[in-house]
Amino acid sequence: MIVMKFGGTSVQDEEAIRRVISIVRGRLSQHPLVVVSALAKVTRLLGEIATEAEAQHEEKVKELLLQLSERHFGLAKALLSSSPSLLDECLGDVRKHIQGLETFVGGVCQIGELSPRSHARVISMGEILSSTIISYAFNAEGISCKWIDARRMVTTDDNYLNARPDMSVTEANVKRIIGLESNGTDIILTQGFVASTAAGATSVLGFEGSDYSAAIFGMALEAERVEIWTDVDGIRTTDPRLLDGTKKIDAISYEEAAEMAAMGARVLHPLTIEPARQKNIPILVLNSKNPSCEGTVVERSDEAPEGPKAVSSRNNILFIKIETQQLLGVTNILGGVMEALYSRKIPVIIAEATESEVGLIIQEEFYGLREALESISKWAKVTVFRDKALISVIGRGVVTVKGLADKVLMAAGRVYLANVSANMLSTNYVIDHEKLQDTLKALHEYVFA
Ligand code: ASP
Ligand code: MG
Repeated sequence: MIVMKFGGTSVQDEEAIRRVISIVRGRLSQHPLVVVSALAKVTRLLGEIATEAEAQHEEKVKELLLQLSERHFGLAKALLSSSPSLLDECLGDVRKHIQGLETFVGGVCQIGELSPRSHARVISMGEILSSTIISYAFNAEGISCKWIDARRMVTTDDNYLNARPDMSVTEANVKRIIGLESNGTDIILTQGFVASTAAGATSVLGFEGSDYSAAIFGMALEAERVEIWTDVDGIRTTDPRLLDGTKKIDAISYEEAAEMAAMGARVLHPLTIEPARQKNIPILVLNSKNPSCEGTVVERSDEAPEGPKAVSSRNNILFIKIETQQLLGVTNILGGVMEALYSRKIPVIIAEATESEVGLIIQEEFYGLREALESISKWAKVTVFRDKALISVIGRGVVTVKGLADKVLMAAGRVYLANVSANMLSTNYVIDHEKLQDTLKALHEYVFA
């Protein structure tokens, strides 16, 4: 069995979905479990519906709901025009889902309150709608397709908007349900992103969580591989939106891909790697607009080659310097700093310590950060440097590449912090935000030219 996950842009319209069907058709002998995202931009639209409803902007909510239903009705009609009876059935299902949503959102409008639980329920509808329509489209094209509600399979905690699955319960559900339902059907189709709590309320796995869903299904089924279909030719050496001339990475290890995600590259949802790594299931990142391209394989490190894989960057980070008068020692100073951050759940990207100083890299202004820094400033001097960027070279063996720091320094003019990650998979530099573009270009050229 294989898992094939198609992201929002891969299912955004009729043309895209027809491509998906033809890609899946070529893999039928491998028994695909197909996982789909919401149509591109629909999750965002639903998020807007939820917050406008909370603000009790009834007219606006109506307008947005209309947009939502027109997009989905239009798509169903386009895909199923030559199968009138399937179209009728499909429109009935879509109408039922949208009416359910309207009623629910109407309630939110009335009370003017949006709990995380209600929020999750609203934004889960994108995947429910897209998967409903796509499943009819498969059947209309002669590929028998069984639609399964992912909420029956993925069981999570009560953290509704960023829910974390209970892996053992989920694994058992997936095995049981897919085992039962896969008899006599070409493919099974389900949703990414959506899940439910043990009590049965809808939850979601967080922004871009469909990749993670695919890996969870892959692990539970011990799939041969997990294919993540997007709209670029695999994982690139740097974000192609930031730089021209990026190259495709052919093979990368689980650990390196995780390091890329941690250092800000938008490759895969950061949690995707772990379930696949546990069972040694290769993840392929492929392009639905160019299916013959081999994409990128994410695999075990003894199979992936050594050497730099990517240059990644993160904007809008804060560099925070914490200094004490006395030599407190690393344990004490780092302990004190981490205590203040840990109790407020503030995520740190990098922390470096000496006997009297700590340097921290933190993404933007995080809720509770100011309070944490105030409490630290009772015993140490705290300086916050804003408008900084983090630039990282990632890959096994990157510490043996000569001249990286020189390149960064030459392009950026100043380096605030230089660091080798503890797993030795990245070297990282904090520079001024306005030097990022030039530095990225220079460093990428140096490493990959
Ligand atoms: N539709 C969800 C999102 O946009 C999940 C996903 O597409 O991965 O975040
Ligand atoms: Mg995605």
